[in-house]
Amino acid sequence: MNVHDSEKISGVLTEEGYSQAESIKDSDLVIFNTCSIRQKAEQKFFSDLGRIKALKRKRPDLKIAVAGCIAQQMGKGIFRRAPYVDFVFGPQNIHRIIDLVQGKSSGIANDDNPEVADTDLPVLRKKEGRAWVSIMYGCNNFCSYCIVPYTRGMERSRPSGKILKEIKGLSEEGFREVTLLGQNVNSYMSDMNFAGLLKGINSISGIERIRFVTSHPRDLSGELISAIAMLDKVCDHIHLPLQSGSDRILRLMNRGYTVLEYCRKVDSLRKSIPGISITTDIITGFPGEKEDDHMMTIKALKDIEFDGTFAFKFSPRQGTKAAAMDSQVDDNVKSVRLTEILQLQDCITIKLNKNLENSIQEVLVEGLSDTDKDTVTGRTRSNKIVNFKGNGDLKDKVLNVKILLARKHSLDGEIL
Ligand code: SAM
Ligand code: SF4
Repeated sequence: MNVHDSEKISGVLTEEGYSQAESIKDSDLVIFNTCSIRQKAEQKFFSDLGRIKALKRKRPDLKIAVAGCIAQQMGKGIFRRAPYVDFVFGPQNIHRIIDLVQGKSSGIANDDNPEVADTDLPVLRKKEGRAWVSIMYGCNNFCSYCIVPYTRGMERSRPSGKILKEIKGLSEEGFREVTLLGQNVNSYMSDMNFAGLLKGINSISGIERIRFVTSHPRDLSGELISAIAMLDKVCDHIHLPLQSGSDRILRLMNRGYTVLEYCRKVDSLRKSIPGISITTDIITGFPGEKEDDHMMTIKALKDIEFDGTFAFKFSPRQGTKAAAMDSQVDDNVKSVRLTEILQLQDCITIKLNKNLENSIQEVLVEGLSDTDKDTVTGRTRSNKIVNFKGNGDLKDKVLNVKILLARKHSLDGEIL
C-alpha cells in the first residue's frame, strides 16, 4: 500500500513537471514515505531522517518532506523532533503536495480527508506488467493492536466506475495483472459489493489476472468465495490473516471470528477452488498471550497448512488499546515464539511446494531474474515464484511451465 502511495506521490509531481532524480545527491526534494505499523519501521525512518540532516546543512536549499502514516500521526511533532524538515503530509493529503512544495500552503497537511476516495490521483507506475489499484481507503475495524484506523481514517470505497475506468486504461497501456488494494477488500461497497466489482474487472479485455489484498476473515462471504471460483481471471490465492490460533487472544484483538469459524472458511475455499494457496499473518506475544495460546497457534498452523505465513512480534502502538493492556509479553519470549512459528512454516511451505513438482503451472513472466540473465522469473496463479531458462522477450507472456524442483521460497521449472 505504501509503495502504491509512493507511485501516487511520483504521479502528482511528474504531472506538474518534476522528475525523479537518480540519487539523493542529485535531488532538490527528498520525500520519506513512512509506515508506522510496527516500531521497527518507525525507528528505521528516524535513523534515515537523521542521516539526511548533514546533507541539508551542506545544501540548505534541499527540501525534505515526510509523508505517510508517521506524518499523519505526528503532524507538527515531526518539526519538533527534526526542525530541518520542510513539510509533512499524511496519506489522505497526497493531492496537496504541489502547494506544499511550492510553499503555497503551510508545512503541514495531515487532516483526515474523507473525500479522498473520490480523488483521481495520477499514478507513476513502473512498467512491470503488474499494477496496484486502490479500491478503498482506511479501516473501521479497530483491531486492538492496529494503528491503521488512526492513521488512514475511516473506511471509504472508491466509486466502481472510477476503478473500472482506471483498470481499462491500464489494460490499454499493456498491464496484464492488477492487484486491488484495501485494508479489508471484502467489505468494499459502492453501487456494488466486492464480488460485483470482481465480475466487472473480469470482463475487461487485456487483463489476464486479478489479485487482491487484504481479506478480513470475518467478511469473507460465500458469495465472494463463489465469485473467486467462477471468475477465470481471479487468481487462486488469498491472503487471509489469522493473527492467532487462540480464541481468547482473537477476542482481545477484536478480530470478530473464532478459530473454528476461520477454519470453516478455509475448508469452503479449498472445496470451491481446488489448489488455492492461502497465506496468513500471525502476531506473536500479544499482551496476555500464554504458552497455551501460543501452542494453539502452532496447532492451527499445523492443521491449516498455510502456503506462507508473515509473522511479527507484537509491537505496542501508542494510542491503540493493546498498547495499554496489562501483561505485556517479554521481548525474549516473543522472539522464541516467532522463531518457532517461522521454522514450522518453513517445513510446511517446502512440503506444499514439493507437491507441485512435476505439475504444469500457468506462469505470467515478470522479467529477467536479478541473479541470472539467462533465467526469467514469474508467478503461478497461486502466487508462487517460478524461475526457468528464458530471455527478456518472454516478459508479460503467460506460459505453461513444468515444475522440476521445489525450493523454500521459489520453484524451478522449464517451459513446455
Ligand atoms: N488489514 C489487514 C488485516 O486485517 O489483516 C492487514 C493490515 S496490517 C498493515 C498487516 C499486518 O501487520 C497485520 O495483519 C498484522 O499481522 C500486522 N500488525 C498490525 N499491527 C501490528 C502490531 N501492532 N504489532 C505487530 N504486528 C502488527
Ligand atoms: Fe488494522 Fe487490518 Fe484490523 Fe483494519 S482490519 S484494524 S487494517 S489489522
